[in-house]
Amino acid sequence: MKAPNKDYENLHNISLQARILSGVSGIISWDEETYMPPGAATIRGEQLKVLAGMIHKIKTGPAYAKALTKLIDIPKGTIKAEGLSKPQQASLKQWRRDYLRDKALPIKFVEDMAKLTSQSINVWREARSKNAFLQFAPYLDKIILMMRKKADYLGYEDHPYDALLDLYEPEMKTKDIDLLFTPLRKSISALFKQLMSAKQIDDKILKSTVPDDKQIEFSKYLLKEIGFDFHKGRLDISTHPFSSSSHPTDNRITTRINKNMIMDCISGTLHEAGHALYEAGLPIEHYGSPLGEHISMGVHESQSRWWEKWIGQSKSFWKRYLPELQKVFGNKFKDVSLDHFYRAINKVEPSFIRVEADEVTYPLHVILRFELEKAMIEGSLKIRDLPDAWNEKMQDLIGITPKTNSEGCMQDIHWAWGAFGYFPTYTLGNMYAAQLFVAFSKQHSNWERRIEQGDFAFVKEWLHHNVHQYGRQYNSKELIKKATGKVFKQDDYVDYLTNKYKALYLN
Ligand code: ZN
Repeated sequence: MKAPNKDYENLHNISLQARILSGVSGIISWDEETYMPPGAATIRGEQLKVLAGMIHKIKTGPAYAKALTKLIDIPKGTIKAEGLSKPQQASLKQWRRDYLRDKALPIKFVEDMAKLTSQSINVWREARSKNAFLQFAPYLDKIILMMRKKADYLGYEDHPYDALLDLYEPEMKTKDIDLLFTPLRKSISALFKQLMSAKQIDDKILKSTVPDDKQIEFSKYLLKEIGFDFHKGRLDISTHPFSSSSHPTDNRITTRINKNMIMDCISGTLHEAGHALYEAGLPIEHYGSPLGEHISMGVHESQSRWWEKWIGQSKSFWKRYLPELQKVFGNKFKDVSLDHFYRAINKVEPSFIRVEADEVTYPLHVILRFELEKAMIEGSLKIRDLPDAWNEKMQDLIGITPKTNSEGCMQDIHWAWGAFGYFPTYTLGNMYAAQLFVAFSKQHSNWERRIEQGDFAFVKEWLHHNVHQYGRQYNSKELIKKATGKVFKQDDYVDYLTNKYKALYLN
């Protein structure tokens, strides 16, 4: 074994301080969404701001720069330290990447942006409730200008959108997304048209009224079954489900309750559990360094969709758990057959709201946003033309036109908070999950039978071995290639959706 490198340890220790503070910030944000008394909102904002300032200071401060410079040439990126392991070298490159990004944005810009987005979120909320796009439009205009400025500060070669995308999906370029989404759009649109011409599935059975406490009880039961550790995690309720992990030993997730649609709570729970299992599976010894962090938002989303869709909406899963659901909810679901239940939870239908979309229309919602936000950033789409552009694309892709801008271009918070470049990661996540799942099911050809027996340990283990254990040692494309032996492409995702939904609708 090599002697530990003192300089590397020193940098890790400084970086650890920032990670601990960001964990604290995560816990008080979690509290804000779950248990905080509403009167504390103002001071909570102050608390978060102070913490954000402290974290930024550590990550851009002289001690950090000095420690980093000892190990790597910051402008050139060549490693100076000798005897570092491969993972440590990868870690250094990520530290340098983060440092350059954090230094690229002037403090004044970051503060102006925070002020603008906090105003813009409030205006968006009000404008959405009144369906008043013209009230929101000037703010969106300002945000676009700031986004272009941000891209300039961060730097890019081909397209300003590259710089924004890179914040959420490191090293992925706009042209990569174009190459993946263009054939995906074509295949999924064709599949969707075919499905909609077949006889529709009846999902009335899912819409029984079920009490909140029973929904939570059943969700907690499922969490235990899949191996979510309640000694190191919890489940609570919030308006929008989310997951927050301050450390691999503290993983908090939330779900939502819809009295008349039991699957909202179950899907929300399994989705967030997937995010939490990823964080819980990151190597503890590397906590505070890039080797203890998730790769990208897309890879994170692959983990949540894996548990929510590939496992949680599979027939084998419900073969095991429908009888349990029937026990917990008494007579509500007593006469439902497995086949009927499985078909109902996988019903495909056009809808306006992305977060409620089924598996087939989901990527179309995301492609719509990607095409629009890319056009807004490059300036080929003016904000005043956004509602029409949205409605046209919605009609073209999903076959429906929203009656209001509130259920159209104002439905998501992302643009109001300045998260341009984020949307593609939702679909990338599904694509990563699909390709990973093909590799997983080749290695475990009996996966369905094992899940029918309530065995999930081998699933968690596979994900840990192929994804979690590496932290940020690889970028997303490298990781997928390593785990699956194939270059990352849209094919497995298209095949998955085509096979699953043709069997459901066209047989
Ligand atoms: Zn998610």
